[in-house]
Amino acid sequence: MPSPNGSRRVDRLLPVHGSPPGRLYTYTLPMTVRVYVGEALARYGFGEGHPFGPDRMGVFWQRMQQTGLDRRVRASEPVSASRDDLLRFHTRAYVERVEAQSRTGSGYLDFGDTPAFPGVYEAAATVVGTVLAAVDAIMDGTAGCAFVPIAGLHHARRDMAAGFCVFNDCGVAIEYLRHRHALSRIAYVDIDAHHGDGVFYAFEDDPHLVFADLHEDGRYLYPGTGAAHETGTGEARGSKLNIPMPPHAGDAEFRDAWPAVERLLERYPPDFILLQCGADSLAGDPITHLAYSEESHRHAATRLRELAGRYCGGRLLALGGGGYNRDNLARAWTGVVEALLPDETG
Ligand SMILES: [Zn+2]
Repeated sequence: MPSPNGSRRVDRLLPVHGSPPGRLYTYTLPMTVRVYVGEALARYGFGEGHPFGPDRMGVFWQRMQQTGLDRRVRASEPVSASRDDLLRFHTRAYVERVEAQSRTGSGYLDFGDTPAFPGVYEAAATVVGTVLAAVDAIMDGTAGCAFVPIAGLHHARRDMAAGFCVFNDCGVAIEYLRHRHALSRIAYVDIDAHHGDGVFYAFEDDPHLVFADLHEDGRYLYPGTGAAHETGTGEARGSKLNIPMPPHAGDAEFRDAWPAVERLLERYPPDFILLQCGADSLAGDPITHLAYSEESHRHAATRLRELAGRYCGGRLLALGGGGYNRDNLARAWTGVVEALLPDETG
């Protein structure tokens, strides 16, 4: 269990010479925050000048260095996902299609938002593999929390790309947590400006996926889904929360809406929390109309860290998501990382 100062108690049998055999020693390990950065992860982007360009990771990491946060986290290398891991969520036909179009680098992987480029399969598989490595680090206790900046590709469907998202790392991570780590209830919280439709519809009838999503009202923004009445189907009814926010909603509206997320997680205590913290909900994003500041992202991360400590041993993984104004994504994501760090007092 995490102690108030952010450390996790670990019970181990220490093989100390001369100590009584079998004696249980208890000590504390600091809850390291891992942040995954590297060239292979940055490569997921659709060309210089594109809103989702390959420069996004570098902009974030530069801000981490300017603020000194880079020295307070453990920087970790990206990892590629195996085909079997992609197949935990995606159909074989779709994975093979991405692989084929990755070789030619031509055409679209959806209806016109998500172009193929040479190496798109490897780049997208690296996003997924890095998220799974972060899951493993949290589950084996070598990390308390983690952040993957180029991740949270929440629009991809099991059989199709959508909205700049090729493979849905969130969906793969949910399946992986269940089948590789035998967890049953996962909470997915999404504060990106766009509705996380690829996650929502994949688990709409699944009562063990607790889903909360604050997004710009679908009447004004892609993908047009996520109405308040969409609360899950069948046995899953009530396990999903969609909160459409009006265009130009700011921090005050976010703070007013947020307690419903906490109530949902209190009603369905999770074993692991995923946060998709897309920075395109900040004022000044070129393709959306919300008007939060980075304080909303900091608030969400701080509160979820507290809930993770209460319900699931601190297990919280944050994924960068969208964000197309470079200064905004740098401020929002570094705010999230700072909120994940253990308190330095006490
Ligand atoms: Zn978005």
